[in-house]
Amino acid sequence: MITAEQKTMEEIVECVKPFRRILLAGCNECVTVCAAGGRKEVGILASALRMVFMKAGTPIEIDEVTLERQCDPEYVNELAPLVESVDAVLSMACGCGVQEVAARFSGKPVLPAVNTKFMGASERQGVWAERCQGCGECVLGRTGGVCPIARCSKQILNGPCGGSTNGKCEVNREIDCAWQLIWDRLKALGMLDRYEENIPAKDWRTARGSGPRRIFREDLAS
Ligand code: SF4
Ligand code: SF4
Repeated sequence: MITAEQKTMEEIVECVKPFRRILLAGCNECVTVCAAGGRKEVGILASALRMVFMKAGTPIEIDEVTLERQCDPEYVNELAPLVESVDAVLSMACGCGVQEVAARFSGKPVLPAVNTKFMGASERQGVWAERCQGCGECVLGRTGGVCPIARCSKQILNGPCGGSTNGKCEVNREIDCAWQLIWDRLKALGMLDRYEENIPAKDWRTARGSGPRRIFREDLAS
């Protein structure tokens, strides 16, 4: 999933300050799972903002809505009747959702209430960690299901770098060395021969090397 964290209250207040009526829009997908911008967070942030502006003597009107998905025009269209009557939209979706809403309502300021972080997974309650950088040419089949691009600090395709200690990365002792994890996993699978195979240099054009990417499915495109 895409992970995100709410911006600081000071930052949000600062960007909302010029407006007297806003629409606070959450998303039911990834940001709900990582507790950054779902229905619950929309309710909490709306109350907190009302309180802040009330105390400052400049009350603000906040309408609340949470869409099924903010990165999908089908759902973003549902905002149309609500957007008309507000000065700006404050979106709690990831950067994809914020941009989709901004593209649909070009005459309204659309502001982000969260910082979008990375594609990751839940390690335990309240902890998410980066797992994929969307490189466009997945090598997990060669690395025992552990991504050397997202999880090795140096993105080494044929590791390790030699700097790890006790299984921890030399760049950040808080994280496991990805190549230690790869070795452990391949060993457990009885596939250490894979570890000996050289992974060829990557064609980064499938990543961001050729600019923004698109997926075109002829069978689905209208
Ligand atoms: S190899 Fe590429 S696509 Fe596969 S998990 Fe890593 S970054 Fe993601
Ligand atoms: S210690 Fe491991 S994870 Fe860290 S940079 Fe070296 S190979 Fe990559």
